Amino acid sequence: MAMAARARALIGQGIDIVNLGLGEPDFQTPEPASGAGIDAIRSGYTKYTPPSGSLELKEVIRQKFKIDNELDYANNEIIVSCGAKHSLYNIAQVLFEKGDEVIIPAPYWVSYPDQVLLNDAIPVIVETKEENGFLMTPDQLKDAMSPKTKGIIFNSPSNPTGATYTEKHYEAFADLLLNSPLWIISDEIYEKFLYDGISHTSIASLSPDLKSKTIVVNGISKAYAMTGWRIGYAAGPEEVVRAMGTVQSQSTSNPTSISQKAAIAALKEGAPFIQTMIEIFHQRRRFMVDRLNRIPGIRCPRPAGSFYLFPNIQEILGKKYKGSEILSSVDLATFLLEEGGVTTIPGVAFGAEGYLRISYAAPEDVLAKGLEKIDQAIRLLS
Ligand code: PLP
Repeated sequence: MAMAARARALIGQGIDIVNLGLGEPDFQTPEPASGAGIDAIRSGYTKYTPPSGSLELKEVIRQKFKIDNELDYANNEIIVSCGAKHSLYNIAQVLFEKGDEVIIPAPYWVSYPDQVLLNDAIPVIVETKEENGFLMTPDQLKDAMSPKTKGIIFNSPSNPTGATYTEKHYEAFADLLLNSPLWIISDEIYEKFLYDGISHTSIASLSPDLKSKTIVVNGISKAYAMTGWRIGYAAGPEEVVRAMGTVQSQSTSNPTSISQKAAIAALKEGAPFIQTMIEIFHQRRRFMVDRLNRIPGIRCPRPAGSFYLFPNIQEILGKKYKGSEILSSVDLATFLLEEGGVTTIPGVAFGAEGYLRISYAAPEDVLAKGLEKIDQAIRLLS
């Protein structure tokens, strides 16, 4: 947020800034979804729906889980919210309270620890390692567990690293998870953003026992370039979903009726859109990783998924520009913005110092220009 505000101020002064900090696809919402939204307005589908989402949309989500994830849910095990963030917020509200510990592998998406803290619960951050592909190991999970552990949040593919847990990884955690009364929250919002033939696995699909303690979160924001429409959803045990519905019904009520209609069309007709978008992201990822690795001091792993890169910048830390030292990811991101004209996000925001998050949700000429600017700026350091 701070970087974006500073970038806006610089743009206001007429300075050319390339934004590599974006967290949303740079594509137009697919036409079937936009059209369905317009039709909803014109036909008067503009009133309250059931607070936890229309039955029609829940039915489409139910089918989505069956086809994409081999998960069978009843409609009363599904809730539609105002974005996946809202579903995650409701989950934290109903599951966590004072003193509960919630395991969050780092680097993490920024909202997880704060949503836990809002309920006076304690985020237990597990620092994953670059050499392990930013994936938590079973030993790390074991060490993080305590009698107070109430939940664990998986995010695969991950924002910000793109790290992706496969069925094998989850199997290695299964015994530990099943022998604990914790809840598993599985944020699968980047499910479609996978490359090099890797396919998505939902931890809930591994066994009925795992399913019975997992709440799967997903949404249309990323997969269908619909961040502004605010539709996310979650599925899990009926008692949890019912409680989430109660929280939602006393706070926001239903997500926008118009967006729900658009979501139905996206989920039913959006597959060709996703395919085209992912092919483009695939090419961009290859270009970006190769180009970043040619910049002195940057080491960028090739992530399995999402549309972010998480390059290691540790070799650059300690270098100087005009006498002042670059000591942290915030210093480097600030330097790249002020002197290079590029917005990136410091890794520390995601719980990992020594890294930057770079998004490739921008056209290739913009990406090329952004990386050229980063390259030139870094060469100014000594
Ligand atoms: N989960 C992760 C990992 C995200 O990166 C985001 C958005 O950046 C969300 C959830 C929230 O998405 P939504 O727009 O559906 O609220």
